[in-house]
Amino acid sequence: MPRERLYLFDTTLRDGAQTNGVDFTLADKLAIARMLDDLGIDYVEAGYPGANPIDTSLFAEKRPMRATLTAFGMTRRPGRSASNDPGLVALLDAQADAICFVAKSWDYHVRVALETTEEENLASIRDSVRAAKAKGREVLLDCEHFFDGYKAKPAYALACAEAAYDEGARWVVLCDTNGGALPHEVEAIVGEVCKVIPGDHVGIHAHNDTEQAVANSFAAVRAGARQIQGTLNGLGERCGNANLVSIIPTLKLKPEFAQKFNIGVSDEKLHSLVHASHTLDEMLNRAPNRHAPYVGESAFATKAGIHASAIMKEPKTYEHVAPEAVGNRRKLLVSDQAGRSNVLAELERIGLTVDKDDPRVGRLLDEVKEREAIGYAYEAADASFELLARRMLGKVPHYFEVEKFDVNVEQRISAKGDRVTVSQAVVKVKVGDDVLISASEGIGPVNALDLALRKDLGKYQSYITGLELTDYRVRILNAGTEAVTRVLIESQDETGEHWTTIGVSPNIIDASFQALMDSIVYKLVKSGAPA
Ligand SMILES: [Zn+2]
Repeated sequence: MPRERLYLFDTTLRDGAQTNGVDFTLADKLAIARMLDDLGIDYVEAGYPGANPIDTSLFAEKRPMRATLTAFGMTRRPGRSASNDPGLVALLDAQADAICFVAKSWDYHVRVALETTEEENLASIRDSVRAAKAKGREVLLDCEHFFDGYKAKPAYALACAEAAYDEGARWVVLCDTNGGALPHEVEAIVGEVCKVIPGDHVGIHAHNDTEQAVANSFAAVRAGARQIQGTLNGLGERCGNANLVSIIPTLKLKPEFAQKFNIGVSDEKLHSLVHASHTLDEMLNRAPNRHAPYVGESAFATKAGIHASAIMKEPKTYEHVAPEAVGNRRKLLVSDQAGRSNVLAELERIGLTVDKDDPRVGRLLDEVKEREAIGYAYEAADASFELLARRMLGKVPHYFEVEKFDVNVEQRISAKGDRVTVSQAVVKVKVGDDVLISASEGIGPVNALDLALRKDLGKYQSYITGLELTDYRVRILNAGTEAVTRVLIESQDETGEHWTTIGVSPNIIDASFQALMDSIVYKLVKSGAPA
């Protein structure tokens, strides 16, 4: 049976850009648009020309791409003609392949928010679609609050959708704007719509306010809709939009959908999904969600020893899809529950070959257990685990030695009369026969220490120039009689690789120092720096 085409519409740059704390620059937007295009997304909604200077300049020139570049905007205002509405005129002038209009489809909103008549709202939809078609644009209509509108007055909600379809809109998109619809309602209502508008002209736009935006999108597809709108990582105001990063692999890997539909994302591009998801997080300066389905670091992580031995024999025993399909990897957590099989699997992944009966495996396991008892958590610190394992196997060169460091924090009144706190660190490092002393100021003691440590590592300096700390987390633990501090540091380098290191001590500076040292040494090992 030939498979039907299902279209993906991404609105990360429009609906997603409305998220609290998200502020894309023009360069960010263009980079994300290129990434979406490369992934195989069919429609990239890049913004709302006229609404802000960035979106206006984005659409001021042609941005060639394979995807259909889409501009968002409102239908003509009530009581005006299409040619006499400056907002609509600006939208029609935008250099876009398609225009996605948003219009009311809930009679209550027409009355209260728009303060116009139902008939005038329908006329506005018809005029706007016609004007955009006349400009040669592909047209979509987002029916705002469609599901609430349908529940209140089905005939009017349908009339809004039909008005756009009859005027030649390529897609009529049913929006769950408030995000409160449930999957069975969505399936029933989309089924009714598809009786009057062919499903291959119907789209779904779901918000995640009951955490069912993804489920609602699939419910709509089951009922006949053939376009799904969503965002990368579910970005979007309030609780977000339908998450395309979860939707895409489900469409590709679950037989119910994979046997029935083709999407624009190839098997090969599916491998880049983790990368796409993390690239967006990086742009937003957010730590990726470890528990994100398919792409999270924990999505294919297994902790208990008994599961780990089964997974090594037959991965399908505990995995619903193969992690490699989306560019993720299987992770067997090394932890206090770890069995030998976890440790062996981790060693194999790192690329350290050891015989499974090697006594050093048992020693490493004992060491991990001992350290975890005093507060270390290696399942969260892969790079520190790797160093521990390499040291146990005698494979970490002695690159340098910190002979001593000194960190101070000073609070004083500045010349302007403000109370300021400054930190300074001085580090004495021995590299071979050279003794190097570096000092640095920082916004806090750990920052000062980090800057001083990385200021001059002599012959190793060139290996760490691309090293950067991306996250720093501190937790106070009550282990035994005294409180200890656990520090986790996430680092990244010029290749985009991320790793996490750990330090534990009663003293926060000492714990931070251990984690910083591990991060630097890990980078040197990874870069193949000579001993
Ligand atoms: Zn929305």
